[in-house]
Amino acid sequence: MGESTSTYSKIVLKKGKERSVSNFHPWIFSGAIDKKDKSLADGDIVNVFANDNTFLCCGFFHHSSIAIRVVSHLPITIDQNFWNLKIASAFALRKQLNLTDNLSTTAYRLIHGEGDGLSGLIIDIYNTTAVIQAHVEGIFRCREQITKALQVVYQKQLDSVYDKSDESFFKSSESRFLFGQRSDAEVTENDLKFYVNWVEGQKTGFFNDQRDSRKLLQQFSKNKKVVNLFSYSAGFSVYALAASASMVHSVDSSAKAEAWANRNIELNNFPQHQFYCEDVFEFLKASSEDYDVWVVDPPAFAKRLDAVAKAMIGYRNLNLAVFKKAKPGSIIFTFSCSQAVNKELFSKVIFQAAQQAKRTVKIIHRLSQPADHPVSVFHPEGEYLKGLVLYVED
Ligand code: SAH
Repeated sequence: MGESTSTYSKIVLKKGKERSVSNFHPWIFSGAIDKKDKSLADGDIVNVFANDNTFLCCGFFHHSSIAIRVVSHLPITIDQNFWNLKIASAFALRKQLNLTDNLSTTAYRLIHGEGDGLSGLIIDIYNTTAVIQAHVEGIFRCREQITKALQVVYQKQLDSVYDKSDESFFKSSESRFLFGQRSDAEVTENDLKFYVNWVEGQKTGFFNDQRDSRKLLQQFSKNKKVVNLFSYSAGFSVYALAASASMVHSVDSSAKAEAWANRNIELNNFPQHQFYCEDVFEFLKASSEDYDVWVVDPPAFAKRLDAVAKAMIGYRNLNLAVFKKAKPGSIIFTFSCSQAVNKELFSKVIFQAAQQAKRTVKIIHRLSQPADHPVSVFHPEGEYLKGLVLYVED
């Protein structure tokens, strides 16, 4: 064991609780802890030992149900070199995916939490800007090192790093700009243009995770009337119009989404688009349009495991309302981005909604997140985005 381990606080697990660590799961729950220092604070780095005192891993500690986010199964020091290696290896995968030097697609995810071995960290790239989201204090504390590591990998290709971490981590004097000061950009995705504003936008500014599904929508859009529910900045709508949809309606309750959606439609010079700044459920009640293709991409209804039952009712009612309106022969792209609602539960909800609506519904594609949102084999929960393309026969 390296001498570095002595510098971090020690946590000992209860007997038998080393199992999930041995299986390389990146989370250790608070109930597994036998002994820890009373002085431990959120974000502290800890060395974790089995009950028989064998070293297991090191990670970030937090006073929450996920008490430790594992970062290494070796007794390492989390220093600049650690971050350089992590960012470089995530970059190597994106390079293989042809995302790092591609004028057709300049927006992508560089770090996808556990999928990139960094539970609690998201980094999205928009042209020359990296937008960071730390979901835990331990990662937030390392933001200067993360910024340096990004500069090492991207060199002159990077002119800004913006921190979109949880509000609660910031002291009032702290700047969200870790480097540079760019607050927005016009990016490309599959040669289509999108305006992204990470300072004012939702999440890191744009939903890169729907890139592949947006592309698939094009196969179904030619000469079709398409409605994009929960459209945000009209990602799916722009693709449908690029594939010669005859008419596209986007629906989102956010006024900013409306402004950005209209801007994106204009950027790509597409006519035949109408935005409805409304609640989707109200829109569905009032609309009498006979759409051919539906996109249903709501925000996460379940943010936590204990909210699953309620979320399932939400997904069921939403899809039920759509099934009731969809005409025979229509196509529905329906999604859930709740990590806590797994594939099986989501399919079950769709089954219940179709049954209640008394419609004949077929699954023609099963969708997930694109390759720049990888899933660790040891952390199947990382497959958070679930989508089904449905054919409503009659
Ligand atoms: N499909 C989008 C991402 C959707 S994110 C894309 O590809 O970019 C979810 C969106 O739903 C957000 O923009 C949010 O403003 C919107 N939203 C949430 N609840 C809503 C509601 N009840 N009615 C309408 N829009 C809603």
